[in-house]
Amino acid sequence: MKATARKRIYADHAATTPVRDEVLAAMLPHFGANGFNPSSIHAEGRRARAALDDARVRIARALGAKPREIVFTGSGSEAINLAVLGVARACARKQERRHVITGATEHYAGLHAVDMLREEGFDVTILPVDANGEIDPATFASALRDETALVSLMLANNELGTLHPIGEFAALAHERGALFHTDAVQAAGRIPLDVCELRVDLLSLSAHKFFGPKGVGMLYVRSGTTLAPLVAGGGQEHGLRAGTENVAGIVGLATAFELALAERVAESERLRALRDRFEVGVLATIPGARVNAQGAPRLPHVASVAFEGVDAPTLLIRLDLEGVAVSAGSACAAGASEPSHVLRAIGSPESAARGTIRFSFGRLTGMLEVDDVLAMLPEIVTEVRDEATVLG
Ligand code: PLP
Repeated sequence: MKATARKRIYADHAATTPVRDEVLAAMLPHFGANGFNPSSIHAEGRRARAALDDARVRIARALGAKPREIVFTGSGSEAINLAVLGVARACARKQERRHVITGATEHYAGLHAVDMLREEGFDVTILPVDANGEIDPATFASALRDETALVSLMLANNELGTLHPIGEFAALAHERGALFHTDAVQAAGRIPLDVCELRVDLLSLSAHKFFGPKGVGMLYVRSGTTLAPLVAGGGQEHGLRAGTENVAGIVGLATAFELALAERVAESERLRALRDRFEVGVLATIPGARVNAQGAPRLPHVASVAFEGVDAPTLLIRLDLEGVAVSAGSACAAGASEPSHVLRAIGSPESAARGTIRFSFGRLTGMLEVDDVLAMLPEIVTEVRDEATVLG
């Protein structure tokens, strides 16, 4: 009898998510029969323009924004770069403000953008975080200056899931005349995202984190905010992002976001229950395991677990061989032998940081998958620890 292959378990939804069927169906015509240039005047072009305009209206409605305030980009990273570099450079041109604030656990898209600003002569403050990845509000308030142009802080951290109180921080920034950008890439579809409630001037999203396509993102830019574009060319996207729009991708982004929004409350509750079951199970069965940022307000679907005495890449590969896909630290830092900047920022001890694995659940995860991982994990962790002792 032929052995049936074991079904793989995907527990890496914070790295990316596959395009869901409804989204693919909405996108397909824009590769084929409707695949034209939205800037063309002819009927074909006007059809593409109508699809683009419709997607813009839908995403704006979902965020509580105006269609004109939506700028489509080629990724979440590009949206973050446009926000950070665009605002700072526009402010500097007016010779007004040359100070920018961000946080130590931001995604590299934001951290490397402020590195560029530093090289251009900007003053940059990187706010520290505590052991849960949280920023002290008093530290935040005291970092604000009269010359602060922009504060850029993520809504939800990609490695730990920690949430920042963005509305509160944005109000403080506005009192000092600074603009506020939030990287909401990991928060989309998980927590409410209304730009007025969040009080932000700029907000970045990336479609591939909520079952949309890769290579398409967007930046919300509050009316009246001046930005210096990063890409020069035609006047697409209100002159803020030149280049013929990826209509299929943008339709995919809007469709995926609407679906995520409609399912958000029930899906987040479902995932929180699964995540909690997983964490309780891990802590009960694996000595020397600790959940990072457990005391912080967190995303419902991310569990960052430090396995003391374990080499995370080795554990990741063992799990992969058993059919389970996870990340060590962040996907972007995977392959690097050093613990991630996020684990360093929360002061994770070296041995715990080196043994940290991120499990992130989503539409592809049910109770069976979680229980399967829980059943195999203790033995695999013991084996990886034993191997390290023998080799070490
Ligand atoms: N910001 C956060 C918090 C992320 O997790 C990611 C992706 O890993 C990004 C930004 C970058 O998004 P993209 O992959 O679309 O460039």
